Amino acid sequence: MVESSVVVPEQANKLLLDCPVLVLNRLWQPIHTCSVKRAIRLVCLGHAQIVQTDGDARYQTHDLISWAEHSSGHLAGELIRTVRHAFRAPRIIVLALYDRIPRKEVKFTRQNVFLRDDFVCQYCGKRFGDRELNLDHVVPRDKGGKTTWENIVTSCIRCNTRKANKLAYEVGMNLLRKPKAPRWRPIFGKRPELSEDESWAQFLQPDRERVKVSG
Ligand SMILES: [Zn+2]
Repeated sequence: MVESSVVVPEQANKLLLDCPVLVLNRLWQPIHTCSVKRAIRLVCLGHAQIVQTDGDARYQTHDLISWAEHSSGHLAGELIRTVRHAFRAPRIIVLALYDRIPRKEVKFTRQNVFLRDDFVCQYCGKRFGDRELNLDHVVPRDKGGKTTWENIVTSCIRCNTRKANKLAYEVGMNLLRKPKAPRWRPIFGKRPELSEDESWAQFLQPDRERVKVSG
């Protein structure tokens, strides 16, 4: 089995093997991320193909052999070596059979509320660091307000103190938008720099023109 022949001789390769890879389903919809190591395993088993993210044949798909050919000419330090091949770490893979989008819910946590609201106080509209932010009950707890996605918003400490246990209109404040549970995305809550990876952006930003998949 090719899978077991993945050799990790150098520290650089170990780091490469832990890097995140975007996983697309058969319909080229992003579903989650996995490590380079797992991505290679899926490709070796024939469950996935590697998506080329550069060059003229962008979005062409590869098995491990053609990916190794495509990787030739790259610096040795960028390559992952197996007994038979040397290739670059994939950035995106597409699954051969799976065509669903997993139904997942974003876990209700303090950090995820901040992420949903983009670290913007939902009363004054200013952006803050997470240490300067609080969670605010839109309907205060002593008026029966629950601790749920629909009743909790990001608030700066100043606005939070001003609103106290009142309703916003009672103290002349306005809520920027009605809070709701965020839609699950493959990289929700992950390090923000991941979503800035140019090769992933095409798949993670639904507003952009859809990638055309030929044949
Ligand atoms: Zn504020």
